[in-house]
Amino acid sequence: MAETKPMILVTGGAGYIGSHAVLALQEAGYGVVVLDNLVYGHRELVEQELNATLIVGDTSDRPLLDQLFADYPIAAVMHFAAYAYVGESVTDPAKYYQNNVVGTLTLLDAMRGAGISCFVFSSTCATYGIPQTLPIPETHPQDPINPYGQTKLIVEKILDDYDHAYGMRSVRFRYFNAAGADPHGRLGEDHNPETHLIPLILDAALGRRDKIAIFGTDYPTPDGTCIRDYIHVTDLAAAHLLGIDYLLQGGKTEVFNLGNGNGFSVREVIAQVRQTTGRDVVAVECDRRPGDPPILVGSCEKAQKLLGWQPRYGDLGQIVAHAWQWHQKRHV
Ligand code: UDP
Repeated sequence: MAETKPMILVTGGAGYIGSHAVLALQEAGYGVVVLDNLVYGHRELVEQELNATLIVGDTSDRPLLDQLFADYPIAAVMHFAAYAYVGESVTDPAKYYQNNVVGTLTLLDAMRGAGISCFVFSSTCATYGIPQTLPIPETHPQDPINPYGQTKLIVEKILDDYDHAYGMRSVRFRYFNAAGADPHGRLGEDHNPETHLIPLILDAALGRRDKIAIFGTDYPTPDGTCIRDYIHVTDLAAAHLLGIDYLLQGGKTEVFNLGNGNGFSVREVIAQVRQTTGRDVVAVECDRRPGDPPILVGSCEKAQKLLGWQPRYGDLGQIVAHAWQWHQKRHV
């Protein structure tokens, strides 16, 4: 008989990265309960594509969490639920501190109450701020330049203290630029509003918008546009699965960058989309977007060495091809 694996709570499991993690957990035989407030998440992805149990609510709802932990034998929590619009975090920081920090604290305290001590946390390369060295190692100083990054850094610090005092072990993953979609076309990216580069270029390729704006062409990079480290969402999900296995086997608190370790400029990404889709995309040069560091590329050897993580879809062409497959299906 197949081994029955424990049950994992995935907060934000109706969102882009969370839903891919739910799929990876299910395929590995874990039971999954999703908690999502559906502000940005998609009910149908959880209920139809994933066929997972969905509880609609906030991580700041303590009575709901207590009931959830009483109803389901949760062994570990993967916490994706967060607001993640950098620009909005600057204009409405209260929304971000309330949801990303207070909501997470409530979740952690409900976990303590229920005796759950394994936590996988979605952190971000935005906690590093402006890089001093490239590629960025996990030991790089953390000095975020926007409230979104601050909220993630604060939670990382809370997790250190909760480990020390309460024995709550955590794995924090600092993502670089999540991109792509499930290779089999079941899941993908669908933000509203959409602000991310690849889906916006795909929108232009699909005729859903007339052009893509290049934010800044005077950066100190070879072609003047920003360079980012794009990492396939399915590779991110695979790392989360390894993180859960690691914690359930007694692993100690750790932090890992997740990226491919190589960077592509905005112009290179646009060229890749033109090539992959065979469609023309009109690009217009615009001013810089405030708060964008010129280059963000991660050093990701630690996750490879300690967790045995190996990105499968490291090629930008593949990332864009999978995103395109999903985009066409989603926006027929
Ligand atoms: N970008 C752009 N035009 C857009 C959206 C993004 O030139 O319409 C640039 C952005 O300035 C950054 C890169 O593309 O340099 C990736 O941006 P995205 O918002 O996808 O991710 P971020 O790096 O902000 O997490």
